[in-house]
Amino acid sequence: MGHHQVLIVGGGAAGITVAARLKKARPSLDLAILEPATDHYYQPGWTLVGGGVFSLEQTRRSEASLIPVGVTWIREGAAAFDPAANTVTTTGGQTLSYDALVVATGMKLNWEAIKGLPEALGKGGVCSNYSKDFAAYTWECIQNFKGGNAVFTCAPMPIKCPGAPQKIAYLADDAIKRDPAVAAKSKVIYATATPGIFGVPTYAAPLREVVARKGIDARYGHTLIEVRPSSKEAVFKVTKEGEEPKEEVIAYELLHVTPPMAAPDVVASSPLAAASGFVDVGKHNLQHVSFPNVFAIGDVSGMPNSKTAAAVRGQAPVLVTNLLAQLDGGQGDGSYDGYSCCPLITGYGKTIMAEFNYEQQPTPSFPLDPTKERWSMWVMKTVVLPWVYWNRMLKGADHERRFIPGVK
Ligand SMILES: Cc1cc2nc3c(=O)[nH]c(=O)nc-3n(C[C@H](O)[C@H](O)[C@H](O)COP(=O)(O)OP(=O)(O)OC[C@H]3O[C@@H](n4cnc5c(N)ncnc54)[C@H](O)[C@@H]3O)c2cc1C
Repeated sequence: MGHHQVLIVGGGAAGITVAARLKKARPSLDLAILEPATDHYYQPGWTLVGGGVFSLEQTRRSEASLIPVGVTWIREGAAAFDPAANTVTTTGGQTLSYDALVVATGMKLNWEAIKGLPEALGKGGVCSNYSKDFAAYTWECIQNFKGGNAVFTCAPMPIKCPGAPQKIAYLADDAIKRDPAVAAKSKVIYATATPGIFGVPTYAAPLREVVARKGIDARYGHTLIEVRPSSKEAVFKVTKEGEEPKEEVIAYELLHVTPPMAAPDVVASSPLAAASGFVDVGKHNLQHVSFPNVFAIGDVSGMPNSKTAAAVRGQAPVLVTNLLAQLDGGQGDGSYDGYSCCPLITGYGKTIMAEFNYEQQPTPSFPLDPTKERWSMWVMKTVVLPWVYWNRMLKGADHERRFIPGVK
């Protein structure tokens, strides 16, 4: 049986960031990452792939190039967790034991939950930025769009980057309006399972103005349940407070789907899971409620924050402090405030940099009104943040999440 002081399951945004920070903090640590994928993608860039700004290749790096020096990479997945025995069984049948475990497997995309979707995806105008296989097809669909309904869906929460389903609607709306003849016979529909445009009131207000200005038909309480590619129809279950649920069929020429998401089965079926299926950790200390040598970070963690890579930036230093203290037999004082950031692209050249915490209070990194659409924040989204991700975050750089010193 292989043993490591720290075993990290999942080498994505969260797993790599934690590994790099742990190695920096304690170079002698025996650290392993269990990760089957050979490539890592900068998923926040997929909105820009779908909008024709980035190529998919710009969002890819080989996993090997990201594993920090001195960290063992085990190229398998986790098949089972046994936290009472401090072991993980791999997909290759190995049993690995650990002193401390970090669960960082991200989320599962549930395409199959929508009838007809797996067969429809990737052709006939049905696309999704939520998959590397279909993000580039989104841009193809937008370019080839010649009129009719362009429908953008958003699944029930939790999903990763809850702003992404509407960002692509705004980009598509801009692109469609470039040709007035096409725009005249088109309608952009944003059909979301949520009861409003965005969960954080401070940012919902300007987004409602964006929707109104663009003339987008926003439909709330709309959950996609079926795609009928032969008749180009999307079927929604519509739930409104005080009303019986009903079905609504919307015809589409372009259908951008955000699938429902969940914790991966291997986590949801393990003793680590809360009732939600996500890892049952404290929302401030990221430590498991029953197994103190287990921590979770990123999308698979059960904290009630908005699931983003930016949240990982806020979580990683906390996890590292508390995990190292746990290894040393103590209790760390790291505390996560729920920080998340969703750069809400509202069109080409325009972004509202929505930063907030558990209390849904704005936590801006800049001394600027964060509710305003800005070109400077578009530059942040398209140039600065990707650079920060590859060169600072994944390298474990000890930077504050605030970009301007002194701004709290
Ligand atoms: C379209 C889109 C737009 C987004 N926009 C933004 C944005 O603007 N800003 C932002 O901050 N965030 C954004 N996000 C969200 C962001 O990408 C995620 O929140 C972030 O990647 C979470 O990191 P993670 O490490 O938890 O998960 P991931 O980065 O998904 O990594 C999980 C890793 O775990 C591995 N894994 C899975 N199962 C197992 C297993 N059983 N054993 C071992 N390894 C396993 C996977 O192969 C993967 O490498 C966006 C995401 C999408 C899809």
